[in-house]
Amino acid sequence: MVASRLHGIPPTIFTEMSALALATGAVNLGQGFPDVDGPEAVIKRAVEALETGANQYAPGPGVPALREAVARHQRRHYGLDLDPMTQVAVTTGATEGIAAAMLGLVDPGDEVIVLEPYYDSYVAMIQMAGGVRRAVTLRPSASGGFRLDPDELRAAVTSRTRLILLNSPHNPTGTVLTREELTAVAAVAIEHDLVVVTDEVYEHLTYGEGSDAPRHVPMATLPGMFERTLTLSSLGKSYSFTGWKVGWASGPTALVGALLAAKQWLTFTSGAPLQPAAAYALDALDTWPTELAAELRTRRDALCAGLAELGLGVTVPDGTYFTVTDIAGLGWEDGTTFCRALPERAGVVAIPLQGFYDSDAGRHLVRWTFCKRPAVIAEALDRLARSDLRA
Ligand SMILES: *Cc1c(COP(=O)(O)O)cnc(C)c1O
Repeated sequence: MVASRLHGIPPTIFTEMSALALATGAVNLGQGFPDVDGPEAVIKRAVEALETGANQYAPGPGVPALREAVARHQRRHYGLDLDPMTQVAVTTGATEGIAAAMLGLVDPGDEVIVLEPYYDSYVAMIQMAGGVRRAVTLRPSASGGFRLDPDELRAAVTSRTRLILLNSPHNPTGTVLTREELTAVAAVAIEHDLVVVTDEVYEHLTYGEGSDAPRHVPMATLPGMFERTLTLSSLGKSYSFTGWKVGWASGPTALVGALLAAKQWLTFTSGAPLQPAAAYALDALDTWPTELAAELRTRRDALCAGLAELGLGVTVPDGTYFTVTDIAGLGWEDGTTFCRALPERAGVVAIPLQGFYDSDAGRHLVRWTFCKRPAVIAEALDRLARSDLRA
């Protein structure tokens, strides 16, 4: 029944795991959405916009107030100079940004390099655009965390490669690509004349301290990269409004134009009353995401310490909502089997990573989110501690 362009795209694992959570009354550390909403003042702006008539089509590329706020945000945080009228576009979440970027930039047969484990919508959208995915594996390193090997990236480039679809801070590993790693990606992109599309929805959610703390570096700020980089972000993760689906793209006019060429036929325009509220968040509540990150850091530490105590091999993430654990130490061979058994055994839901890999490097890996209230994380750890988690 389903069109062939959708064949072979695995159904999202979140549907199965969230259904399991519901059926068993399990604590859901699977899906990454906060259980506390973002700032009240932003909600108030959206209500005001609804009540004062922002209820008809917004301009296709977004309301000027939000495009200007995004440009100011990029200048303030990263020193990037953008023309809000031609170099910024509002999208229906970063998800539509990804879709429009792939449909606007990838021709049938073009190869797209992604990091694996990958975000699941990348797979679907590359395929719907007729592109071919080439995955480069982030590998656990002795220095801690999953790292990019520039030689593996180089080896993935062919004469058909069109673009690199990058994600940093990276879901699900929590890796924040270092300036060195990004410089290596940039060198490959420049040498082979590739476009880089970069998903930076976790740009503000990094957890370092002090001067050598891991910090998000936008690809667009690297020498020679602005003109070939399309940057995607959104309000969802930074301001705890994942249900709003307000995102934006920024970059050189030609790349934003290519995205808009597709976006105009997908949704034409995105939710009008939410856009002024998003502009207000970026302008007036600039430090809110940093305060959220400080809270998330505490929760990360609690979850990672608790999981390590249970005998799981924990990778402490430098960013995002997630931590990845290796379950081999408990005698399990397969993360999917483990995650299917976990709600029944312990009353907790986590997500197996194998579905986000082409290679089998993810077989032992399981993802847990810490974007929940501390009491929820404590309850999950309590339940796990009271259960037999061995295979
Ligand atoms: C959550 C997430 C998105 C989706 O962002 P929306 O603005 O909700 O569409 C995109 N990329 C990554 C890596 C994410 O984790």
